[in-house]
Amino acid sequence: MKPPVHLSPNPKLTLVGAGPGDPELITLKGIRAIGMAQVILYDALVSEALLEYGQPDALKIFVGKRKDQITYTQQEIDRLIVHYAIHFGHVVRLKGGDSFVFGRGYEEIEYATRHGIAVEVIPGITSAVAVPELQHIPLTLRGITESFWVTTATVAGGAMSEDLQLAARSTATVIVLMGLHKLKEITFLYQSLGKAAIPVAVIQHGSLPGEKIVIGTMDSIVEKVEAGRLSAPALIIIGEVVRLSGKKTLAAIGKHQFI
Ligand code: SAH
Repeated sequence: MKPPVHLSPNPKLTLVGAGPGDPELITLKGIRAIGMAQVILYDALVSEALLEYGQPDALKIFVGKRKDQITYTQQEIDRLIVHYAIHFGHVVRLKGGDSFVFGRGYEEIEYATRHGIAVEVIPGITSAVAVPELQHIPLTLRGITESFWVTTATVAGGAMSEDLQLAARSTATVIVLMGLHKLKEITFLYQSLGKAAIPVAVIQHGSLPGEKIVIGTMDSIVEKVEAGRLSAPALIIIGEVVRLSGKKTLAAIGKHQFI
């Protein structure tokens, strides 16, 4: 579609977190923003069912990464946002989970702000919390773990994240995003720290009909993930709380009361 000849008097970007995948796990505010957009730019992890809440004549543009498809660089996406806001008006940028958790949302609002575009941010439910939660895995639990880390396995350049190495030394629950390809290295790390028996869960397509979950320890998880043929998008949850998955009771894992 050709852009309108006149520039929009009210260029605006609304960054919307779409939640972990299940289209019902978006906020009401997010749905309302979609309904007011002239343009919706959406990612691969976003359910296309959400586009139905958009106006029929709104432009709906896929800018995510999918196998064997031409993808946009982050810079191109930043520019598209500004282009569409200036020419069409209200752009909703719909991103998986929460836009500020490994979502590059901040870069997008900064670029748009620098180009004089009004910006609003609508938080989403991050997969880091929701996907374990849907398996009844609490990330903190009185008497078991008092914190959680959400990290990625690798930093730019490909090296193992130093934060992950620190987290592995703590009693925190650790949630690793974008880490499946580094699962073996992660198990080596925990094994080298004498934590081979620590429980691990790998969950693919959490909250979606095709959800797959594999539970093991640092000694068994790689084999189990291979046998189950799990692939991205998947996250890894490490910690004693994983024992509670499958709706187990505290007594079943040897914890009889909250301390
Ligand atoms: N901003 C997103 C995360 C983006 S990074 C959020 O807050 O959820 C993308 C990574 O998130 C994936 O590689 C995977 O590790 C994780 N992820 C996102 N959705 C997921 C889902 N439904 N099930 C399992 N992992 C998911």
